[in-house]
Amino acid sequence: MSRTCSSRRRSDSVQRLQDRVAVVTGAGSGIGLATARRFAAEGARVVCVDIAAGPGRAVAAEVGGEYVDCDVADEAAVRDLFDGVVQRHGRLDVAFNNAGISPPEDGSILETDLATWERVLRVNTTSVYLGCKYAIPHMLRQGSGSIINTASFVALMGAATSQIAYTASKGGVLALTRELGVQFARQGIRVNALCPGPIATPLLLELFAADPERAARRLVHVPMGRFGKPEEIAAAVAFLASDDASFMTAAQFVVDGGITGAYVTPL
Ligand code: NAD
Repeated sequence: MSRTCSSRRRSDSVQRLQDRVAVVTGAGSGIGLATARRFAAEGARVVCVDIAAGPGRAVAAEVGGEYVDCDVADEAAVRDLFDGVVQRHGRLDVAFNNAGISPPEDGSILETDLATWERVLRVNTTSVYLGCKYAIPHMLRQGSGSIINTASFVALMGAATSQIAYTASKGGVLALTRELGVQFARQGIRVNALCPGPIATPLLLELFAADPERAARRLVHVPMGRFGKPEEIAAAVAFLASDDASFMTAAQFVVDGGITGAYVTPL
């Protein structure tokens, strides 16, 4: 079967998330946007969450879902988000805790100040703690659920081009995900971490277009010789969200073009 034919067939007929209620944070851009589209294409009712109302509302309208304005680092807002979803939709099947930041002030430990460290940890790690804390009780009540938390390949590897707060924040996501996956494994709840490699989101492309040397310094470590696409990550998230991943929990699911497996890359 040709590639075109198999991908057309996938988007036309595979409905692994039919009628499931799925929350996607950071749905306004990049990986979250591609995942909201993919979830909807597979039949889910998608709750699109962001702090950027313009893009958030636009994706919700596009996928026939709803938009909820919510700062994922704000405890009351996250509690209200999940309680509201269950009140309005009657259930909660999938929580994709994905929103995150990578600000330019975050660099070498020698220059990164405490305020930046705390902000990155709050938006990237505390948000995942909150997303799990307020999703899990609903999933326990219904006896099922899939949580996917976005970490990164940098949680698994060291880089001399450091972003120290970001790296630590994603290491925290991996550890807390593993523990929750183990704790709730016999209650029908799967909790997995996703570790994307570098993805060609608009921000990254802009940064590397302005600084090709910076892009080349990174691309040399990618066996596939290119950055990933948001749609390639969305496909992995849809798998983890679906029953196709029914025997997977507490995992770190790496989608990175081969980076974490590489020593010497092809010329
Ligand atoms: P992005 O910047 O394109 O999108 C992030 C979205 O999250 C934006 O719409 C933003 O408004 C929203 N957001 C930011 N702070 C928020 C908050 N406090 N509350 C609610 N929403 C908020 O980012 P992306 O590249 O799609 O990254 C998504 C996730 O994937 C992040 O956790 C990121 O760390 C991770 N990741 C990205 C890459 C990459 O190369 N792009 C690689 C590995 C991991």
